[in-house]
Amino acid sequence: MVTNLEEFLKNTKSNTEQLKRILKLKRILKKSEEECDLLLYDLGCELYEEHVNKFRDRESTDELMELINAKRSYIKSLRNELNVLNGRIECEACGKISSCYYDFCPFCGNKLPGSIKESHETDEKPPVISPEE
Ligand SMILES: [Zn+2]
Repeated sequence: MVTNLEEFLKNTKSNTEQLKRILKLKRILKKSEEECDLLLYDLGCELYEEHVNKFRDRESTDELMELINAKRSYIKSLRNELNVLNGRIECEACGKISSCYYDFCPFCGNKLPGSIKESHETDEKPPVISPEE
C-alpha cells in the first residue's frame, strides 16, 4: 500500500514536471514565432524599399535572412521537442504528425527516424543463434 502510494506520488510528480516543461516550451515557441514574424515583416519592408528605390542593400537583407533562418530552425527544434513530449513525431518527408511508436509514416510510408520502439529494440540485441555442433 505504502509503495503504491509512493509510486503514485512519484508518477504524479513526473507528470507535473512534464506538463510544466510542455507549457514552458509552448510559451517559448509562441514568443519565437512572434519574433520570426517580425523579422519576416522587416525583410518584407527591406525588399519593398529595394524594389521601389532600385537599390539593393545586400548586407542588411542577408543579415535578416540569416536571423530568420536561425529562428526557424530553433522553432523547428522546439516543435520536435514538444512532439516527443506528447508522444508524437513529425515525418521529415510529408510533415504530418504521427505516433512516435510507428516505424513508418502512416501517411506517406517514409521511415520515421528514432522512433521510440526502434531505439528500445536496439537496446536488446536479438540472441545470436550459434549453429549446432
Ligand atoms: Zn510522411
